[in-house]
Amino acid sequence: MRIFDPHIHMTSRTTDDYERMAAAGVRAVVEPAFWLGQPRTSVASFVDYFDSLIGWEPFRAGQFGVRHHATVALNPKEANDPRCRPVLDLLPRYLDKDGVVAVGEIGYDSMTPDEDAAFAGQLALAVAHDLPALVHTPHRDKARGVERTLAVVAESGIEPGRVLVDHLNEVTVKLVRDTGCWLGFSIYPETKMSPPRMVELLKTYGTERMLVNSAADWGRSDPLLTRATGEAMLLAGFSEDDVDRVLWRNPVEFYGQSGKLDLGDVDAPAPTFAGNSILRGGE
Ligand SMILES: [Zn+2]
Repeated sequence: MRIFDPHIHMTSRTTDDYERMAAAGVRAVVEPAFWLGQPRTSVASFVDYFDSLIGWEPFRAGQFGVRHHATVALNPKEANDPRCRPVLDLLPRYLDKDGVVAVGEIGYDSMTPDEDAAFAGQLALAVAHDLPALVHTPHRDKARGVERTLAVVAESGIEPGRVLVDHLNEVTVKLVRDTGCWLGFSIYPETKMSPPRMVELLKTYGTERMLVNSAADWGRSDPLLTRATGEAMLLAGFSEDDVDRVLWRNPVEFYGQSGKLDLGDVDAPAPTFAGNSILRGGE
């Protein structure tokens, strides 16, 4: 099973996680810029964070055979903090960097006017820089948040096929399914979406434009829940090709729209010599 986790905050994870992920089949990840829990007090903190997302973290991932890409943005929560908003002026410099494959996470946290402005402004940046957009949906008041999100996306003029609406569930999936946007589902250990619930959604809605991520970060989360979802799909009768589509080809297609996805040889079949895999524990 080859896995591309399209949303995971590796900065908050340990090398043990990288080891376990690589062993489970995770060969590539996208790390969206987000909120660190501790409020940032100046734009300089974002500069160091973004530099780490495009420099140190890809290097660290590479030690474990995992290809690392990033998305950059002013996250919805900190869009409300006047000390953070000037980072919007810095974003164009980062959006042109190699390894930055989308604008994100953008969207709504509490649906304030400041969040409206940051969201619309950053969708415009995605259009201007010819990049896809990763859109976070709020954890509270979810249905209303998704409706408002979709209205802003439509107003922005960005092509829906270049937008990933993330953190969906059984209720909000219905709102996004027919918009042409991609659908993201974050699989969590206890709350929100679980592997069995995800399998039911895939049975109902199919595998097209469906993305599964762990959204693992500094909170309770598990970077191996992508793999667990793949296994639950197989147990439920989905084919290996279905699993490959959801866990590999869909994220590759979505972020590939940036023209900056660099998978080199990570998606090649395991090297063989006279028909024998040289990789121990290979597939
Ligand atoms: Zn996130």
